[in-house]
Amino acid sequence: MKIIESNLSFGSMSRRSKTNRIILHHAEASTCTVQDVHRWHKNNGWAGIGYHFFVRKDGSVYRGRPENTVGSHAYGSNSDSIGICFEGAYMTETMPAAQKTAGKELVAYLKKKYGISKVQAHRDVCATSCPGTNFPFSDIAGSSGSVSVTTTPSKPATSGDAWVRRLQTECNAQGFSKQAVDGIAGPNTLAGCPQLGRTSRGNITALLQERLNTLGYNCGAVDGINGVKTQAAIKAFQRAHNLVADGIVGPKTWSKLLGLS
Ligand SMILES: [Zn+2]
Repeated sequence: MKIIESNLSFGSMSRRSKTNRIILHHAEASTCTVQDVHRWHKNNGWAGIGYHFFVRKDGSVYRGRPENTVGSHAYGSNSDSIGICFEGAYMTETMPAAQKTAGKELVAYLKKKYGISKVQAHRDVCATSCPGTNFPFSDIAGSSGSVSVTTTPSKPATSGDAWVRRLQTECNAQGFSKQAVDGIAGPNTLAGCPQLGRTSRGNITALLQERLNTLGYNCGAVDGINGVKTQAAIKAFQRAHNLVADGIVGPKTWSKLLGLS
C-alpha cells in the first residue's frame, strides 16, 4: 500500500499521547479530494483536515493531519484515536472495490503498527449516521494481517498546457521573460517568445518544431535545428494562417502558434 504525502499546511495541533482505536468516517460528499476536506475544515476554524488519513474511491490513500497529533473527527473521542475518512456518501452510494481494499489494508496496517484491534464507526461514539448505512463497516473494521507500506510525495500541482509550460520555462531560463509558468498562454507568454530567424537553433526552436509537428506541419525530427524541413513547415503554417510566409517566427507567428489570434 502507498500513502501519498499531501504536503498540507496546518495550524497548531497537540500531540496524541495514546492510540487505542481507529474511527471510520465517510466524507458525505460523492467526489472530493484531501485538499477539499482540508479547506472545509480550515473554514471551520480548525488547524486543517481533521482526519489522519483520506481514502479516495480509486483506492489511493492520502495522509491528512500528522499521524501523531490529536485529530478533529469524533467529538469526545479524538484524544486516543486515529481518524480515517472515505471519499463518498455512503448513506446512498456503494463503495467501489478499490476503495474497500485500500481501506482494509490501511486498517490492518494501523492495527499492527499500534498493537490495537478496536475499530469504531463515527456513529458508535457520536450522534451521527456517519459513515452511512451502506458503508462496509465489518469488512473494513475486521481486516488484519501484514501490509507493507511505502510513502510517496504528492505530485506537484500543474496547470494548463504542458507544451506552453515548457515554453514558458525555457523563455524564462534564456532570459527572454520572467513570467509565471502556468501553462496558460497570454500576453506575457507572447512577449517572452524571441524572434526565431531562418537558421535558429536551440531549445526554443525544438519547442517550435514540436508544436508544428503536433499541429500537422511536418518538421521531421525535433532536433532544435531550423533546417530545410523546418523552414518549409514554418512557411506552410504561415500561409495557412494568412501571414507573410517568410520563414521567420516573430510575434504574429508566435501568436498563432500559441492560439492567441
Ligand atoms: Zn464522521
